[in-house]
Amino acid sequence: MSSIEKASFEEIRGVFEEAYRIGLASTRLGKVADYIPELAKANADDFGICMKDADGRELSFGECEKRFSMQSVSKVVLLAAALAHCGFEETFSHVMMEPSGDSFNSILKLDTTSNLPFNPMINAGAIETASLISGDLSFEDMLAYARELCGDPGIALDEAVFASEFETGDRNRAIVYLLKSKGVLMGEPKRTLDLYFKMCSLSVNARSLAHMGLVIANGGIDPATGRRLISPEHVRPLKVIMFTCGMYDYSGKFSVRVGVPAKSGVGGGLVCAAKGPMGIGLYGPALDSFGNSKAAVKAMEHISKELGLHSFD
Ligand code: GLN
Repeated sequence: MSSIEKASFEEIRGVFEEAYRIGLASTRLGKVADYIPELAKANADDFGICMKDADGRELSFGECEKRFSMQSVSKVVLLAAALAHCGFEETFSHVMMEPSGDSFNSILKLDTTSNLPFNPMINAGAIETASLISGDLSFEDMLAYARELCGDPGIALDEAVFASEFETGDRNRAIVYLLKSKGVLMGEPKRTLDLYFKMCSLSVNARSLAHMGLVIANGGIDPATGRRLISPEHVRPLKVIMFTCGMYDYSGKFSVRVGVPAKSGVGGGLVCAAKGPMGIGLYGPALDSFGNSKAAVKAMEHISKELGLHSFD
């Protein structure tokens, strides 16, 4: 099979079924995150894939209902909200759009190479985008936006994850105060961090992430409701930054091997905005050394190859 346009739905189902098997078999090669203690409670063997397309068709295999915290996938929601609230020029005068090549929570380049965070998909960049909106938008506003993007009114704040995140978030505190010391933080540090931690602690599932991927893949319009959730001029920067920076310091390899705009989180979630248009949401809490879901990456390699989803094919 070579292209999503030519494949029948039964063929697509077969590819996802095989990807589920491949992913499930690789969960044992990963390790659940434990630097936020609450995340360590996840079941390392869990894996689920959900696909939604613009015709309302859906496929799901494995753990697609189980809730987990959004973690860094929320960086996409923060960036979309910052773009909507401040516009393109203003947003990108506070955060760059360059892959960092460093781990997601690195402080190194922020202190030594540049004053601005490298991109909005690493902690420093997402804390900066949170600071851009935290003065005007409340957590409730952002929760409502996340629910809309994910087509999931069931998204809620996971209080236990939030508490765990808050207690152990010293590195993120270091980042927020470093940004403040450089005069680039736009919001009040405590309010900014509160919003950042709460966004990381939103409980989603693979189906919610598939929906969010579909909205992005569909040019910012939710096909289920016909509502525009991201303006057309913001979809491209969002997709490109997901493509180049969405998988932390594995982003280059993922772009070559999979070639789909994507964003991962240490809760085990992965959102992909694929050709079709098609949204793919995956959940596998056993992570690789970069902080990406081991099973989700393996499954996406298979799906992209079999359905010709690479952006440059
Ligand atoms: N809440 C996590 C942190 O700030 C999010 C990181 C991630 O998902 N990579 O460390």
